Amino acid sequence: MIVVMKPGATPEEVRHMIQRIRDIGLTAHVIQGTERTVIACVGDERFKAPEQLAVGAGVDKVIPILARYKIASREVKTEPTVIPLGPGSLGGQRVGLIAGPCTVENREMLLETARAVRQAGAIALRGGAFKPRTDPYAFQGLAEEGLQYLAEAREATGLAIVTEVMAPEQVPLVARYADVLQIGARNMQNFNLLAAAGEADKPVLLKRGLSADFEEFLLAAEYVLSRGNARVILCERGIRTFEQHTRFTFPAASIPALKQATHLPVIADPSHATGRADLVEPVARAAVAAGADGLIVEVHPNPEQALVDGRQSLTIEAFARLVASCRRVAEAVGRTL
Ligand code: PEP
Ligand code: MN
Repeated sequence: MIVVMKPGATPEEVRHMIQRIRDIGLTAHVIQGTERTVIACVGDERFKAPEQLAVGAGVDKVIPILARYKIASREVKTEPTVIPLGPGSLGGQRVGLIAGPCTVENREMLLETARAVRQAGAIALRGGAFKPRTDPYAFQGLAEEGLQYLAEAREATGLAIVTEVMAPEQVPLVARYADVLQIGARNMQNFNLLAAAGEADKPVLLKRGLSADFEEFLLAAEYVLSRGNARVILCERGIRTFEQHTRFTFPAASIPALKQATHLPVIADPSHATGRADLVEPVARAAVAAGADGLIVEVHPNPEQALVDGRQSLTIEAFARLVASCRRVAEAVGRTL
């Protein structure tokens, strides 16, 4: 349930209600709106009487949250959550681009890609240092050396750094270098990892699981939020279906549906969704048209020689073309890029 405070409620009244909520065994998450404060009460709500909270000083009303995801829900927070990132942000009026190689391969290629995508208009650099590979014999990433190159690329360009963390015990190390902790599709229901990321002081980019449904995706985000980390970015990266002509299937409808269900920023990954460089730009345009707050795109200076995911990586020139055409789409739907 949520406790909606009156517009003029004092900080003392809010503090008192937080204590009351704790006293009945629930956790209080304070959401500061522009007009009023709302307190989301989460935990086991059996036997907890909403009437008891409704009589508190400064309380306007107590209403049940119908969605199973509580803090993520639009019912709790109607204004969009805006997450600052490098020279821009995600979740506001402007569509934000995250771009870079699938994997950090070496220092030179990373710096070259970083400068190029910054020039083209990206706000963040992606690149895996810890890679979740299907094949145990495939390149697994440069680990901490890769994180160091990413940090150097941030210094050189001002881009925010987005990189994957695969295990709870890696969170402190990755958080030391990265600006955003990426949780990959294969780890979307790694609940210990979600909890560890929820305790970190960095935004989390959560990718939809290959076979996760809509509610499972939002409940995974709720794990992070419920641990106290309010900065979660949702990423639609395609799901597994019977279809074979693309690597995954991109469900465009999930973008507006997520935007209705949650206040969190929603971005799309047309690279993993399609697995084909020739389809990345059109699907990116579709995502922006459908209301995505941003895109994460794989870019490589020489896709033919990429160690991982060359088939879906854009050249620097193709990325610049994507930016120009997505900008026109953004403007057509009342946004900027
Ligand atoms: C990635 O973005 O590097 C990645 C591995 O993607 P996903 O987890 O969506 O497969
Ligand atoms: Mn990849």
